[in-house]
Amino acid sequence: MQLVLIGVGQAGGKIVDALLQRESADKTPFIREAVAINTAEQDLRGLDHVPEANRHLVGQSRVGGHGVGGDNELAAEIAQDERSELVRAIDVPATNVDAFLVVAGLGGGTGSGMSPVLVNELQRIHTEPIYGLGILPSEDEGGLYSLNAARSLRTLRREADNVVLIDNDAWRSSGESLGDAYESINREIARRLAVLFSAGELSQSDTVGESVLDASEIINTLRGGGVSALGYGSGKIDTDDSSGRLSGLLGSSTPSVDETTAVNLTMSTIRKAVRSQLSVPCDVASTGRALVLVSGPPAWLSRKGIERGRQWVEETTQCLEVRGGDYPLPESDHVAAVVLLSDVKESERLDQLEAVAADAQGEQETHENDGEVSGESLSDDKLDGLF
Ligand code: GDP
Repeated sequence: MQLVLIGVGQAGGKIVDALLQRESADKTPFIREAVAINTAEQDLRGLDHVPEANRHLVGQSRVGGHGVGGDNELAAEIAQDERSELVRAIDVPATNVDAFLVVAGLGGGTGSGMSPVLVNELQRIHTEPIYGLGILPSEDEGGLYSLNAARSLRTLRREADNVVLIDNDAWRSSGESLGDAYESINREIARRLAVLFSAGELSQSDTVGESVLDASEIINTLRGGGVSALGYGSGKIDTDDSSGRLSGLLGSSTPSVDETTAVNLTMSTIRKAVRSQLSVPCDVASTGRALVLVSGPPAWLSRKGIERGRQWVEETTQCLEVRGGDYPLPESDHVAAVVLLSDVKESERLDQLEAVAADAQGEQETHENDGEVSGESLSDDKLDGLF
């Protein structure tokens, strides 16, 4: 699948950087163009992989290159005022593009406020689907971050064709500070997305999968809006049984690996992906559509294992639209599974985010009204979108 990536704000830019790095390591091109947009000059300078010509500083007349200080309303206003500059920034030569992906930390200012406006603008100009990749703030970051994220997400969901969510708390090791975790979280995001979006693209090894998933199947899984979670599981291939690896290295897809071993490894990585490694905690039984993609050396990619895994996802998610496929990685010593749960309707994590956000908005309103409490109960329906 060929994507145009647009990183907005600090987190958005750094994640696009991580994706570019991953793409060049994996040698399977899936990024047609990568752009970074920010109101903070320093954040743009800190990027390593986004080409200089594709880094755009906006809002200079309002904030002088110093960022919006967490004010996502100001960021949304700047984006509205500078729509024509934004259009120029994203007017990259993008032939043969399957979709656009706008990446942002939803709890901050620039990415949170600008990304929904940008998605709205891209929808106006392009016929390809426009997706969001939204980073939810950690619970430790407090009410203002949750309020920003909930308001941004509300607007982004309305504008985008789908929003894939990553919870900053989901893959953090216990005791690790959030700042220390960013790099590893970004690497994990890039690893998962690279497997997903490489599906159907030819790697330099030119090995083709047995059941290839192409761009249209990913697009069909994401169609119709809503939010999505990504799961990932991997299992190391037992090197004592090197036959499969060797045949994989030689480019042969002859299954010289014991089929039961391959089926079991495939099933356990798919289960792991859904049960323990979702990018945002959610009720998997509320999934609208799903996609299972298994990667590994060709000899370990068992058609039977993938079909059984696909059926298991169908039963577990109770949704009837589950696509499955494989992606050969001849030199890998792992079997890995990416599971995309699209249009997930129930998530306690999102309910809790909305509740914290509603409290924070209530406190803000009380403060603005000189301490007068309105007496109305605060429900998530009272949360305002950004525009
Ligand atoms: P902006 O530059 O104003 O858009 O603000 P940020 O992008 O820094 O957004 C702040 C939110 O993004 C907070 O919830 C941070 O925890 C999160 N964040 C900041 N940098 C990173 C990063 O590199 N990776 C991840 N995963 N989250 C980040």
